[in-house]
Amino acid sequence: MAGNANGGEVPGFRIIWYLHGAMEKPLLEFTDKGIYCPPADVYLDPWRPVDKAIISHGHADHSRWGHKRYITHERNVPIIKHRLGDISVSGRPWGEPFSIRGVRFSLHPAGHIIGSSQVRVEHQGEVWVYSGDYKREDDGVATPYEAIRCDTFITECTFGLPAFKWQPQEGVFDEINRWWLQNQAEGKTSVLFGYSLGKAQRLLRYLNPAIGRIYTHAAVENMTAVLRPVVDLPPTIPITADTPKEALTGQLVLAPPSAHGSSWIRKMVPYVTASASGWMAFRGTRRRRAVDKGFVLSDHCDWQGLLECISETGAEKVICTHGYSEIFSRYLREQGYDARTEQTQYEGETTEMDGQQQDSLNKRGPVENTPWAQRRQKDA
Ligand SMILES: [Zn+2]
Ligand SMILES: [Zn+2]
Repeated sequence: MAGNANGGEVPGFRIIWYLHGAMEKPLLEFTDKGIYCPPADVYLDPWRPVDKAIISHGHADHSRWGHKRYITHERNVPIIKHRLGDISVSGRPWGEPFSIRGVRFSLHPAGHIIGSSQVRVEHQGEVWVYSGDYKREDDGVATPYEAIRCDTFITECTFGLPAFKWQPQEGVFDEINRWWLQNQAEGKTSVLFGYSLGKAQRLLRYLNPAIGRIYTHAAVENMTAVLRPVVDLPPTIPITADTPKEALTGQLVLAPPSAHGSSWIRKMVPYVTASASGWMAFRGTRRRRAVDKGFVLSDHCDWQGLLECISETGAEKVICTHGYSEIFSRYLREQGYDARTEQTQYEGETTEMDGQQQDSLNKRGPVENTPWAQRRQKDA
């Protein structure tokens, strides 16, 4: 690595280094509208309306309304049409390059949810990859993550703290199915919360339909209907005003987190609730969200997963966006990467989080303010 943090640095060298950096325009830059590629005049996951947008995946913080033209993976096309209505969108297959004003783009699996892509950008011999959101474990629903070699890697770090360490999903799904069986034996309805796009289908894929019937909240049912043509999922029954209360006893209800505490849920008495999220790794989360049970299941990388994925890209430069970006990029610098953070408006799956955690992420405050550190302090 150039320079020496402990002194011995020649001031002149530093000035020349900065001038060099200022003259050389980066292939992707962070603007107030989103991640911008100047030579192609195109934005990646912009958060303000633009003419041309390449979209990594269907979650609301990445695919926003109001762009003139959308380019995304073909599996994400029905998802964003369902969410955003009649938009002008072209779908692309994995790995097939397309050119915009001489800049070469291609989409590669990110393993986060169905149709989620990393965006590879190549121009004048330089390669950048923007990760969107990603995870390393093959969940059997999303196309598995593929490492793409690049010079600069733009990474999310939603769970970029060493405290986050996921278990293989088989064990988690065993736990969930056993929980359902136990509730059934007690004559209770199992209400399981998961985000309607991604998490809900992943849960559905592994819930055991031999235990009982699976009922759905309308938000889950509608998004699942969009995805049924491409994922093999067990049958579901949407809950309507006509669904008799007795029919739900001992069965499982899949609902988005926003349904928690609503009058819709009260119909299911007696019931028990559970949430499936990476945030359930923090013991305080379950209590704050007032769910009876927490299953640690995330569609993002854990700490080790992030480090392994980054290492496999071969990138020397890493730009950290949403999540624990300051802590994570500091660690990367200690490992010899040229790493820094950039502000974006991606939210690290807001719906997976409660207000307190969202606050600590938005402020990007010192380590002491993170739930991780609070927990460590309590445990100490
Ligand atoms: Zn996402
Ligand atoms: Zn996100």
